[in-house]
Amino acid sequence: MIKENLQSIRATLPQGVTLVAVSKFHPAEAVQEAYDAGQRIFGESRENEFKAKAATLPQDIEWHFIGHLQTNKVKYIAPLVSLIQSIDSERLLDEVERQAVRFSKEREARFGDACIDVLLQLHVAREETKSGFSPDEIMQLLDSVNIKERWPHVRLRGVMGMASFVDDKDLWRKEFRTIKACQRALLDGPLKAQGITEEQFDILSFGMSDDYKVAIEEGSNMVRIGTSIFGHREY
Ligand SMILES: *Cc1c(COP(=O)(O)O)cnc(C)c1O
Repeated sequence: MIKENLQSIRATLPQGVTLVAVSKFHPAEAVQEAYDAGQRIFGESRENEFKAKAATLPQDIEWHFIGHLQTNKVKYIAPLVSLIQSIDSERLLDEVERQAVRFSKEREARFGDACIDVLLQLHVAREETKSGFSPDEIMQLLDSVNIKERWPHVRLRGVMGMASFVDDKDLWRKEFRTIKACQRALLDGPLKAQGITEEQFDILSFGMSDDYKVAIEEGSNMVRIGTSIFGHREY
């Protein structure tokens, strides 16, 4: 089924939209099955599960970390992660910088580059439980720091967000527009002022199993899909 699910989702994705297969809570065998069907980018949300899978599965998998990341856990994923999508605090950025330096040899060997790519997670949904910066918070933060001096081994690549967990297309649309508008405002403001270009900060990661079609209509270029590929998760 995984192969068929992947094929039918891929058939709906326009050119330029990257598919992240969210494999959290699914066993390594399921990841391998998706890999055998050609999928190379996978998303995980817990550092221990991430580490265990990355250790045993093929080396050319691109692992994205998409869950809430505690600062004391960054060290476990730093050698192996291709993109941390869930940066939600200034402290976490500081820690990613520290661990990128600490694991620079490992990262050079694996990626040819020590820097860690990250997305800034934005909180736009109704649920208070979701993490992420508000658009105002991230604007203030990036306005107040020298990005390249403070985090020379971190590359800001774009923004990530989640819509509210309610079945309301209009609300999803509104929230996705807020994410995109925030990317635009950062590009026109603090990023431009600090020499970070649109080509460098180009990832718009929003859209999951239920809402990814709306997300793409609203400009997403990276969707993170779990359930529709792997089935329901057993927590
Ligand atoms: C679990 C998760 C997904 C995938 O959700 P599905 O509804 O299973 O597609 C996407 N993004 C994040 C951040 C997640 O935690």
